[in-house]
Amino acid sequence: PACLYVVATPIGNLGDFSERAKLILEKVDWIAAEDTRHTQKLLSAFGLRRPLMALHQHNEDQRSQQLIALLQEGKSLALVSDAGTPLISDPGFPLVRAVRAAGFDVVPIPGACALIAALSASGLPTDEFYFAGFLPAKALAREQRLQGLVRMSATLAFYESPHRLLPSLQALATTLGGERQMCLARELTKRYETFLSGSIEQVLAQVEADPQQQKGEFVLLIEGAKQQDQDQAWDEACRWMLALQQEMA
Ligand code: SAM
Repeated sequence: PACLYVVATPIGNLGDFSERAKLILEKVDWIAAEDTRHTQKLLSAFGLRRPLMALHQHNEDQRSQQLIALLQEGKSLALVSDAGTPLISDPGFPLVRAVRAAGFDVVPIPGACALIAALSASGLPTDEFYFAGFLPAKALAREQRLQGLVRMSATLAFYESPHRLLPSLQALATTLGGERQMCLARELTKRYETFLSGSIEQVLAQVEADPQQQKGEFVLLIEGAKQQDQDQAWDEACRWMLALQQEMA
């Protein structure tokens, strides 16, 4: 049928490529991929041969129109990213929105997602979590983003790249306080998969001491604010209000 499949691919271990994902990628007319060379390698490893086209941040709006034209011709499409679930810190949102708006079905083919894999094994609360994607690269913007999250009680989740790991951990320690519990999940499903747990300060010290721990791909999970912290924040807000009122009276 003319529809768009959003297909998750492995985040390291090829065993996580689902049967259903392979079946879909074998039969669709076109596969839109973040990086066609990268996806070509994955497809070749499984003997899959379908036409690929690039869909990335910079051509997504234009590509979306072309892909909708293909759907109107009755073609079926799949969207994949380099690794994991498309649209999760990856391209695809404008396409999915446009395809739905054009009246076609969008069908998810679920599979690996680094965020969910990390969270499920982290030992931190999972009943409520807030995924904040990548922190901004610039120090001030990063600080501001974190300030906005200080009082949130949900577990906080971030993606991070190797060269920004240390600055991000340092920023987390200064804004959220070094005592908060965290879990650093590295190289999930791969050979050097590692989980470092402890206070932000402890994890930072471990990472600083061992350059090996600074390599690879990371998910950072941080315990949410405790009720006590929230009460303190509230008390402080009330004191400010009172002071302001007195000032204005
Ligand atoms: N769409 C992907 C997903 O579903 O997880 C995420 C894409 S995002 C561009 C890439 C980031 O995801 C990496 O910088 C890292 O933070 C995280 N990531 C991806 N694969 C990972 C892995 N095997 N282990 C730990 N983190 C991973």
